[in-house]
Amino acid sequence: MIHIPDLKQLAALVKELEDQTIVCMRCGLCQSVCPVFAETGRESDVARGKLALLDGLAREMLRQPAQAGQRLNKCLLCGSCAANCPSGVNVLEIFMKARAILAAYQGLPAAKRLILEKMLAHPRAFDRILEWGARFQNLVSRPVSKTLGTSCARVASPLIGNRHFVPLAPQPFHKQLASLDTEKGASGLKAAFFPGCLLDKFFPHVARDVVDVLTHHGVGIWMPPGQGCCGIPAVSAGDMATFEKLAMHNIDLLEEKETDYLVTACATCTATLKEVWPAMLGNLPADYQDRARALAAKTIDIHQLLVDHVGVAPPPEEGEPTVTVSYHDPCHLKKSLGVHQQPRELIAASPGYRLVEMTGADKCCGMGGSFNLQYYEISCSIGALKKRASRPPGPLW
Ligand code: SF4
Ligand code: SF4
Repeated sequence: MIHIPDLKQLAALVKELEDQTIVCMRCGLCQSVCPVFAETGRESDVARGKLALLDGLAREMLRQPAQAGQRLNKCLLCGSCAANCPSGVNVLEIFMKARAILAAYQGLPAAKRLILEKMLAHPRAFDRILEWGARFQNLVSRPVSKTLGTSCARVASPLIGNRHFVPLAPQPFHKQLASLDTEKGASGLKAAFFPGCLLDKFFPHVARDVVDVLTHHGVGIWMPPGQGCCGIPAVSAGDMATFEKLAMHNIDLLEEKETDYLVTACATCTATLKEVWPAMLGNLPADYQDRARALAAKTIDIHQLLVDHVGVAPPPEEGEPTVTVSYHDPCHLKKSLGVHQQPRELIAASPGYRLVEMTGADKCCGMGGSFNLQYYEISCSIGALKKRASRPPGPLW
């Protein structure tokens, strides 16, 4: 169904897109680093092909909106192309704006509308729905890998097929620790903590570890109750209303107390708060835009905070390392934010740990949020390449 969008906003977005896409000189350097292109070999799947499409976006939307949407959505938003672009084309911002234009023009598919507008946009209701989901998930899914902690559907399901997925944690982090307000310690710093949906609902032990590590290093923590999603699933789908609503909700909460930093331990949340909020909240009142920019400036990845500002360093006397680990660079941390040295320095600073670099440490894992749901086979192939590349010689794996 074609929706009648807010024409003024739409025209402004199209104009912004035209100004940004014109920077692409069609050199094709993005081709060699695009994980989707490596799988499909199709020009329309790489940044250059998508940018060429956007050149005639208004015409293309009128002629074939569904096809234009498909081409735009077949992208992990990994940022490999932008990181490798000699012209500095802001590919991710362009793709998100284009998706917003298409969503405004076409409307969102019913399933996405249900999840984004009716669930994600309402943090308390979303929490409750997933709490019920965690309680009853074993009726429809069964654990399949103890090592990876993944599950599969119990019976053949057209929706999830034979996919492996990480189940919801039995108890989300916000139920274990609803809020926190601790004093600055030896570091002299205080940070607001934004766990984000993944840590809260799937990996609460990581959120607990963040609290323990910050406390151990004398960083005071402000964690307001009732936080919502950072908004990346909404803005990636082009649902600007949900994205803006979530951003305003979180800005109001996170600003309540004065802190030195806003710390996150999820690369995608960090990149969203730091890069996507300032770029994509142009429709909010000026006051909210200023506050979003102020929070973005304070947002920092936990490794970067610990190494660059707390000064975590190796202990003076090191024993023989007994645990060997490798490290995967999350796309949004390295390619969007340039953070790659600090996680390695933290491993080096941990007594007993030895880092072995894998081949292609910064190659995309293929997950890409909802890309994994829509293009599961391509996602698996990219993941399999990563798995093969991550096996160093020797007895470790
Ligand atoms: S690398 Fe940059 S300038 Fe070259 S084709 Fe890709 S997006 Fe355009
Ligand atoms: S963001 Fe990643 S998947 Fe999308 S076009 Fe760029 S390199 Fe390819």
